[in-house]
Amino acid sequence: MDSTQDIKQFSNTREQRARAILEIGNPETLDEFTYLVPSQNSDRKYRVTHIDAYSCECEDFKRRCQGKNLYCKHIKAIILFQRIKQKYEVKPEVE
Ligand SMILES: [Zn+2]
Repeated sequence: MDSTQDIKQFSNTREQRARAILEIGNPETLDEFTYLVPSQNSDRKYRVTHIDAYSCECEDFKRRCQGKNLYCKHIKAIILFQRIKQKYEVKPEVE
């Protein structure tokens, strides 16, 4: 049950959820290190901080990701968001 493949699939699922979150709305930037990420299935928002490493206040992160180098969907959403933002600001892609 705990094979590498399962973990990888689980991680891919988080990536997909992260994309779904960004479709709902953009994360809010509170300051240089703090973001609020909308929840996929409720009105609540999760606080993600990035000081030395990414951290999130959701249960998934606390129970399954913390200390294992894994990111929850909220952190993945922030990383995706940064990538997209950079793409637009730094080098706009010509289609
Ligand atoms: Zn989270």
